Amino acid sequence: MELIRKGLIAITGTTGVGKSQLAIELARKLNGEVINADALQVYKGYDIITNKVTAEEMLGVPHHLLDFKEYTVQEFERDALQKIHEIHGRNRVPILVGGTNYYIQSVMFQKEPGSPQGGSTGVQPNDHSFEQSQVDKSNQQLWEELKSVDPIMAENWHPNNRRKILRSLEVLHTTGRKHSEWVADSEEARRKEETLRFPTLLFWLYADTPVLNQRIDNRVGDMIERGLFGELGQLAKDLSDPRAEFEAYLKAAATDSKTSELECEQLKAKGIEDMKTSTRRYAKRQITWIRNKLIPECRSTLGKSTRAHPFVLDATDLGQWKSEVMNKGLSIAQKFVGSAQLPEAAAVSDTAARLLAEVKEKPNSILAWKRHFCSVCSKSAEETPNGVALEVWLNGDDEYNQHMHSRQHKHNIKHRKRVSSWHKKDGDDARGCDAPLSKRANTNLESTGD
Ligand SMILES: [Zn+2]
Repeated sequence: MELIRKGLIAITGTTGVGKSQLAIELARKLNGEVINADALQVYKGYDIITNKVTAEEMLGVPHHLLDFKEYTVQEFERDALQKIHEIHGRNRVPILVGGTNYYIQSVMFQKEPGSPQGGSTGVQPNDHSFEQSQVDKSNQQLWEELKSVDPIMAENWHPNNRRKILRSLEVLHTTGRKHSEWVADSEEARRKEETLRFPTLLFWLYADTPVLNQRIDNRVGDMIERGLFGELGQLAKDLSDPRAEFEAYLKAAATDSKTSELECEQLKAKGIEDMKTSTRRYAKRQITWIRNKLIPECRSTLGKSTRAHPFVLDATDLGQWKSEVMNKGLSIAQKFVGSAQLPEAAAVSDTAARLLAEVKEKPNSILAWKRHFCSVCSKSAEETPNGVALEVWLNGDDEYNQHMHSRQHKHNIKHRKRVSSWHKKDGDDARGCDAPLSKRANTNLESTGD
């Protein structure tokens, strides 16, 4: 059996799915070493906050890049590649494990230097003649015009973003080709310039959202019992940037604070709820990224000499973890290391089949972003102190959902309600903005996508 030369096993997924345990099991059975790819775990001394694997749990398996420092992605990439090189030199298998997307991606894929910037058309706007020729048209007219000739690009711009709309019209005018086509081409070119560094076996450990959310809530509870607040106090001193959720509580709990005990407890309870919410939201973003970006990028290596093989392992039922995650993972990894035929990824489990069917063919394009406009938070020029209109756009559903729950958005809703009740008397539109689409006046938020 010929061993795969200079291969890599990568394990990713949210918190609470057993990534570290799988890494350790694989390392023990396959003569491997573990490289940490979790940005949080590099905080030295904060074992509870970062849910760091303990020396006892490591079972003698070497772990690299734990307890290190705050990394930039470039520093991480450099050090992780160095470690992989060393591990290959010892004829062992490097196992990269963690939930930090850009760490995993920077190690798996190499970006060729000098990639063109997004949307480059090779045409520079070198005079203002085009702009001048359009000076009599209103923003709305220009947007309608763009929508008729390049609807994809029109959907990308807010109808009041005159500069961008003019630019898209100018590109078509000058090059005879739609701006959206230039953007799509340049995205495609950048994808081609991303090359996989090692033959890679990727495991995505997945748990269904309701189960995972419950697990996250329980974990936050565990962390508190294990002494989370002690670490948080220390972290606040060390970084002068505590976990934002507990900032109010930690301030109130400081010895010189005059906050009452009851208020303190309320702030603490609020902090705990906020921590659960933000951890859930982070998990959701991780899953979206794996499904929409990482797996499609792996698939794009199909037919190339260096390939990435993505597999989903179902960690929804922890009672089945050993058979569903450990045994299945080990069996696949043994085949990979032994250069044997790998099974069909969709045949591993029903969950794998379902998730892989949902994966997009290509990584997310900016042209496929569903853009959302928040009319609650956007302000017309008359409403801002500096007289410059503020438009709040959210790129994609995740950013939108996050924004909807943000403190700023909730604050603005309250503010708008007040303003609206004042203005009702004069029949003024509380938004103070000439809503270009009639729907906008009636709904707080509107998607410009389908
Ligand atoms: Zn908003």
